[in-house]
Amino acid sequence: MRTVPNKTDLKKLLRSAQSQGLSVGFVPTMGALHEGHLSLVRRSKKDNAVTVASIFVNPTQFGPNEDFERYPRDPERDQSLLSREKVDYLYAPSKEDIYAPGSSTYVDETELSQVMCGAFRPGHFRGVCTVVFRLFQIVQPDRAYFGQKDAQQLRIIEKMAEDLGLDIRIIGCPTLREGDGLAMSSRNAYLSEEERTVAPQIYAALKEAQSAFTGGERSVSRVLETAKDALGRHPAIQTQYLELRRWRDLRVEEAITEKSVLAFAGYLGKTRLIDNVILTP
Ligand code: AMP
Repeated sequence: MRTVPNKTDLKKLLRSAQSQGLSVGFVPTMGALHEGHLSLVRRSKKDNAVTVASIFVNPTQFGPNEDFERYPRDPERDQSLLSREKVDYLYAPSKEDIYAPGSSTYVDETELSQVMCGAFRPGHFRGVCTVVFRLFQIVQPDRAYFGQKDAQQLRIIEKMAEDLGLDIRIIGCPTLREGDGLAMSSRNAYLSEEERTVAPQIYAALKEAQSAFTGGERSVSRVLETAKDALGRHPAIQTQYLELRRWRDLRVEEAITEKSVLAFAGYLGKTRLIDNVILTP
């Protein structure tokens, strides 16, 4: 694996590979890597001749009171994990390599970004879309890999690619979980021992609701009620939102008639966790 810290060198390497007809897969991350990230890398390795991963803790997607400063960073460990996976190029840029000085231009998806996490994290998806667009311009991948764990982010990136006619296939990949069901996340490192024992109950609640759906329940309010009751048994879990929305446009419906997402966001102590399950009739 070759670590490349600046876009000029990366572009040279990638344009040369692309001119030989080699396909490029891209896995953008913020580092503090876990098996979830590595599953995206493995999928890219399977699909493409060349795999590029990036590590960039993007300041523009964090709110002023969020965890940008203390976001976990472990570049050496990350490098060795990616190198073990035989990633071809690791792009680890500085802020200046991504954002021109005095930068004031953003990519702003204005509909799907308004709800769910977007309602609680103003500007978050604008930061995400802007950085992903910048990274796409630099890497110009054939395929880019995103986790279903961040369901709204995945849908918004898909929408951005559709809206802007980006010639990049956005590939959604399943959520990797710990043995007890907790969705893997770099932020799990923030959890105290006690919080960590309660955290799997988030997925347990989502699964209970998913079982109701699988058993034939199609009423959005009743599926939500099932998840809400299950979460209610664990007062340490402070729900920020629990919502069931149609996947296509993230609209709220009364009945589940097409692919939908049941999504949770909330706090365990000071740590904000998200998770979701997909419901497909
Ligand atoms: P992050 O470093 O948190 O920005 O995540 C980088 C990519 O990894 C995003 O596409 C995430 O959705 C994905 N990802 C994070 N956690 C998981 C997980 N548990 N399973 C699968 N993909 C994940």
